[in-house]
Amino acid sequence: MKDTLGRNINYLRISVTDRCNLRCMYCMPEEGVCKKEHRDILSLEEIYEVVKAYSEVGVNKVRITGGEPLVRKGLVDLIRNISRLGSIKDIALTTNGILLEKYAHDLKAAGLKRVNVSLDTMNEEKYSYITRGGKLGDVMKGIDTARKAGLEPIKINTVLIGGFNDDEIDDFAALTKEKDIDVRFIELMPIGQASNWAKKHFISNKTVLERTPELIPAGSDDPSSPAKYYRLPGGLGKVGLINPISHAFCGSCNRIRLTADGKLKPCLHSELELDVKAALGDKDRLQDVIAQSIMRKPMQHNLNSKDSRPIERDMYRIGG
Ligand code: SAM
Ligand code: SF4
Repeated sequence: MKDTLGRNINYLRISVTDRCNLRCMYCMPEEGVCKKEHRDILSLEEIYEVVKAYSEVGVNKVRITGGEPLVRKGLVDLIRNISRLGSIKDIALTTNGILLEKYAHDLKAAGLKRVNVSLDTMNEEKYSYITRGGKLGDVMKGIDTARKAGLEPIKINTVLIGGFNDDEIDDFAALTKEKDIDVRFIELMPIGQASNWAKKHFISNKTVLERTPELIPAGSDDPSSPAKYYRLPGGLGKVGLINPISHAFCGSCNRIRLTADGKLKPCLHSELELDVKAALGDKDRLQDVIAQSIMRKPMQHNLNSKDSRPIERDMYRIGG
């Protein structure tokens, strides 16, 4: 279905939980999250109902995210059911990778096509620091198992954090040299409670090009991808830059977000939320709220304007 600006909305990003087994500094408060009551979170059956309704208006791509999606019980079954719908051609997962070693084979068998793994440093101590306690070795084992399970292509998402990991740009880029892995640098966004932290540590993705001048522009397999791709000479994988701040990609945005507590977000950076939970079980209401989520999609975010304010909902409660 097209929105009022003619953008073809075919991509639903689903947050299946607010919970997480890490506490990344730019995403979650240290003390963790207030646990939501079971009844406030969409059941897996309800999520399936929303996906099915979106698939009827042309959504054919789904990404499962969170919080950490792999901590949600029953996730493999949800993926199997979405896969059986037949109309969703691409089912992907964004994960911190900690539990991938345990689930990669089951996820693949259930119909998951590919994974994006978030990894901001390849130094054990720094990893433990930024995630407040995570073990880098778990993520590395997870990536390896995902590759063996055939969850490809694997993309590594690295949030560029000034003074923290800008000294590792070369090391991350080098990962693409010998393996068919894409590494995508993402600009830090000011969102929720951690927005001041994000503003302090923001550096533009231009830094990646300055530090790695040998990168050569490369095409993308997916024209709606927000990443601009490059390749090292002879590299098997690609280096992507996702620049939501310095070069907004709103003009080609094709996505809607579903939060774990049952809200539809037409735009990541807008406070606009539509209550889909209340419409479940009533086909007409559900179709109506879905159509609204598409027709009310803002033209663009205004993060770069002087008086813009970060949205209040934290990233782990939206689904990045
Ligand atoms: N827990 C999973 C993970 O870390 O991949 C999925 C959810 S996490 C919210 C999704 C992505 O959002 C991660 O790649 C994370 O690095 C990114 N993210 C979180 N807060 C962000 C922020 N303030 N700016 C940019 N990216 C952010
Ligand atoms: Fe958890 Fe992902 Fe947020 Fe890190 S970025 S705290 S892993 S939800």
